[in-house]
Amino acid sequence: MEKKNILTGIRPTGRLHLGHYFGAGKNWVELQDKYNTSIEIADVQALTDNFENPQKVKKSVRDLAIDILAIGVDPQKTTLFVQSMIPEIAELTVYYSNLVTIARLQRNPTVKTEIKQKKELFGEKGEGITYGFLGYPVSQAADITAFNGELIPVGEDQLPLIEQCREIVRKFNSIYGVVLKEPNAYLSENKRIKGLDGNDKMGKSLGNAIYLCDDEATIKEKIMGAITDKNKIKKDDPANPDVCMVYYYHKLIKNENIENVCNECKKGQRGCVNCKKELIEKMNEFLAPIQEKIHYYEEHPEIVDQILKDGSIKAKKTAEATLKTVKSAIGINYFE
Ligand code: SF4
Repeated sequence: MEKKNILTGIRPTGRLHLGHYFGAGKNWVELQDKYNTSIEIADVQALTDNFENPQKVKKSVRDLAIDILAIGVDPQKTTLFVQSMIPEIAELTVYYSNLVTIARLQRNPTVKTEIKQKKELFGEKGEGITYGFLGYPVSQAADITAFNGELIPVGEDQLPLIEQCREIVRKFNSIYGVVLKEPNAYLSENKRIKGLDGNDKMGKSLGNAIYLCDDEATIKEKIMGAITDKNKIKKDDPANPDVCMVYYYHKLIKNENIENVCNECKKGQRGCVNCKKELIEKMNEFLAPIQEKIHYYEEHPEIVDQILKDGSIKAKKTAEATLKTVKSAIGINYFE
């Protein structure tokens, strides 16, 4: 049976954190044996809200590729490529932009949330929002369809973007003939990963993330500041581990001592400082093999660049074929 195509896009605006790893990254590694997997480093999309800071995006492309390789994505199995190296995506975006209204983009819950989070850039009421940012879901539809993406690993918060893509595909197929595939979301087991501060989402802009490349001192500082059960005042007060972020991370990284952590916490036999110290130790153990690979690739950037170049050449061929089909369906395949 033919393998299905899985496409993931990730904006290069910083390093991978645990939210990325448990929310999607683990899936990328597990799925690469079962599917035709591609990972797009979406630098063009990153520019939609970083257009004044292209150097940040440029640096993040390689940093992100390093993190992706370090978690176990194998370039022999997964096509890892850079979005701007595939101009066909930009051309597809132009054709698809006729198939979606401004009002629909403004109603997209993911876009609305992001506009709220970027008040400094787009103003209190989103009055400074750019054409490029509002249209990024259209560009995402171009990403997905360019590579015939059938399954898209996403968190719950990104489901509206997949629905937007499906609508564009349906509209295109209804006007020009059925040539594009509707993608489906592939939700990861852990969905959203909470931040150290108890926020429902771990995020760079929220300042509540542990990064895969964080050194021991940084991890210690972050975990010592994590939110615990506020009702536990004294060391031997019984507490509720279910409201504690330290317990949440013990569970997330599958500390084999988790039952003791839970029972001792409930009975007041465990102090929060010691509990955090245990988590720091376990977290460093958990991250050690990933960080070993990060350091290897950081010392060999030429290997990373070659992987990105090879992946982009391969991806471009697929996108060229899709664009040809799309132009032919629209009827603008002149002089062939
Ligand atoms: Fe959280 Fe551990 Fe303190 Fe319980 S003992 S509240 S699990 S840090």
